[in-house]
Amino acid sequence: MKILVPVKRVIDYNVKPRVKADGSGVDLANVKMSMNPFDEIAVEEAIRIKEAGKAEEIIAVSIGPAKAQETLRTALAMGADRAILVETDDEVEPLAVAKILKAVAEEEQPGLIMLGKQAIDDDSNQTGQMLAALMGRPQGTFANTVEVEGDSVTVKREVDGGLQTVKLTLPAIVTTDLRLNEPRYASLPNIMKAKKKPLDTKSPADFGVDTAPRLTTTNVSEPPVRQAGEKVEDVDALVAKIKALGIA
Ligand code: AMP
Repeated sequence: MKILVPVKRVIDYNVKPRVKADGSGVDLANVKMSMNPFDEIAVEEAIRIKEAGKAEEIIAVSIGPAKAQETLRTALAMGADRAILVETDDEVEPLAVAKILKAVAEEEQPGLIMLGKQAIDDDSNQTGQMLAALMGRPQGTFANTVEVEGDSVTVKREVDGGLQTVKLTLPAIVTTDLRLNEPRYASLPNIMKAKKKPLDTKSPADFGVDTAPRLTTTNVSEPPVRQAGEKVEDVDALVAKIKALGIA
């Protein structure tokens, strides 16, 4: 079985994003970029499935600018076998990403497609679901545990207040949640080896996908600045304050 792992290059999770002065978006100039954290979890899970002898090949795929090669090299250094960059400088919305991934999957015929539950830049949480719908495949989203057995995969899903277990017939789509695993760091020898692993470059047009945006971003703004707190003398003063706010 092949596992396809879509990985997105996003602003690093440790970086505090700066909004552009004209409110048109987030300023990405000279900002550290990394693999979307949920996608690292997806790569890790794919590697564990392969290490357990239940998959033969892991293919990482990214849709984005030439620099997304770095993200793919990270996936290769972690343990993916080969990579595909679908190169575009346009911002690609989840529907177009899902259409490209569907085309890649039709060529590669993976048994499992393992995505992150969401990309931390746009917070869409849409691509995996759209891909499953476009392909007519079963989906197990927000995976907390993934167990491949024969021609099916059992996914424990993180739902409000607990876990839901679903069994999907392969080929299937799984999206990863935070607690699925702790991704490994790539070792230096593996980073070196990853440089020699195959990385194919394609374009959205190669797959006949029109990436023209369907949405217009009208404004992006900073969250409101938090008001400073106030120290009160004693509990009575606190209760009086709360009563004055009309919430007690
Ligand atoms: P989203 O629906 O944008 O929140 O993204 C959910 C998941 O879809 C991500 O965690 C990735 O696995 C995948 N994905 C989204 N955009 C891309 C992209 N440009 N390239 C590769 N994978 C992507």
